[in-house]
Amino acid sequence: MEKLSISDARNPEVIGTRAVIQGWVRTRRDSKGGFSFIEVNDGTSLANLQIIADNTLENYEQEIKRLSAGCSVSIEGEVKESGGKQATELLAAKVIVHGWANPEEYPLQKKRHSFEKLREWAHLRPRTNAFGAVARVRNCICQSIHDFYQERGFLYVHTPVITASDCEGAGEMFRVSTVDPENPPRGDSGRVDYAQDFFGRPSYLTVSGQLEAEIYATALGKVYTFGPTFRAENSNTSRHLAEFWMIEPEVAFNDLDDNMDLAEAFLKRIFGDALTKCPEDMDFFNQRIDDTVITTLQKIVESDFIRVPYTEAIDILLASGNEFQFPVEWGCDLQSEHERYLTEQHFDGPVILYDYPRSIKPFYMYVNDDDRTVRAMDVLVPKVGEIIGGSQREDRQEVLESRMREQGLEPEDYWWYVDLRRYGTVPHAGFGLGLERAVQFVTGMQNIRDVIPFPRTPGNAEF
Ligand code: ATP
Ligand code: MN
Repeated sequence: MEKLSISDARNPEVIGTRAVIQGWVRTRRDSKGGFSFIEVNDGTSLANLQIIADNTLENYEQEIKRLSAGCSVSIEGEVKESGGKQATELLAAKVIVHGWANPEEYPLQKKRHSFEKLREWAHLRPRTNAFGAVARVRNCICQSIHDFYQERGFLYVHTPVITASDCEGAGEMFRVSTVDPENPPRGDSGRVDYAQDFFGRPSYLTVSGQLEAEIYATALGKVYTFGPTFRAENSNTSRHLAEFWMIEPEVAFNDLDDNMDLAEAFLKRIFGDALTKCPEDMDFFNQRIDDTVITTLQKIVESDFIRVPYTEAIDILLASGNEFQFPVEWGCDLQSEHERYLTEQHFDGPVILYDYPRSIKPFYMYVNDDDRTVRAMDVLVPKVGEIIGGSQREDRQEVLESRMREQGLEPEDYWWYVDLRRYGTVPHAGFGLGLERAVQFVTGMQNIRDVIPFPRTPGNAEF
């Protein structure tokens, strides 16, 4: 017999078909007429399918009446028009129970749990409505990311997870090593000799695929990476993970304006797709999590992002009369409170800040003619703050080398990166979008740990 997903079985067009549906029981209750209502969910949609199981079924007393939340079942039957809130229901002809879930022990039995509590049950939480919806929206966003770049002729490039370049200053790195921590090889100085380690040099988990993406962009034009990145910062915030996924487009012959255009079109595409492709899940977030998510996303898709130079943003913050915890002056790195003031209070929408002071940005960003600022850009959105960070890259060899020295780096250590400027250099630009920040923004989920299946944060790696 044909298998039907619950999402398909809810479509009125299949009324009259006989099929098997398979999933997990959410609830079961008796009805006066001598039958049971069983609500089954298989993860293909937020809503359950209602099953009508008559007491004439052979295992009615011994099994069907004992079904409770969490039990797994295969149910054969006919899809009927329903008088309830769903369009269809299934009239069961046969119910097979695959696995029981003792209602005395099953943690998701009835009671609603907090998201904090559910983090302790990362193995069960995808069975709840909220985490099912997050998983589907996250999947939709990933599809939309690939669609957006593929439709525009970008090549998907896989950059390494293990790297020896610790440049960037993007964050603290996790070391990748096979040396015996109890008895490491030591050099003459007594320090650990990483020349004897697996890769023959100190190696780490990557904080960004950008430098490698530049190699491919300066050969193939338009590329993007989409992979895991790692930061060993001990920041216990609602927007930071130690392991997260980043999408990094890199485009030859793009300048900072092109880069902003790309970032804006990109965000609008994934927000728009979430609204049109996951309407049921988005309604759920709007009702249960944050009643502004849908209107906010709609507004963003239709409006232009405001673009403001860093210097002007500093003036706005100074003129705001706000008491910030971190004082504001030209040259300071913007803290989350500053970013949120700008995007939430002052502009009430997405803002792209650009042209940051050179002293607070990495060596690879293009130095402006004023010599004080670099062509950096950050996209800020309400509630989440920074969602994208990027720049036009420094493509002049001498300037790049002097910027490296200025930051205490040796150009020889990045000889391959410098070579990209030595041979056929071109203007180019790119940025990084944190996938989880995007999912957070779209769903309205407050904590980033609830939009990735298995969050890695300081002290947390059980599942
Ligand atoms: P922040 O200032 O918010 O810590 P950052 O400036 O260090 O971020 P970038 O190095 O610019 O971040 O990384 C590009 C993007 O990756 C960010 O805009 C953000 O969306 C995402 N991102 C960075 N760090 C993290 C993290 N620890 N967890 C989740 N996403 C992150
Ligand atoms: Mn950044």
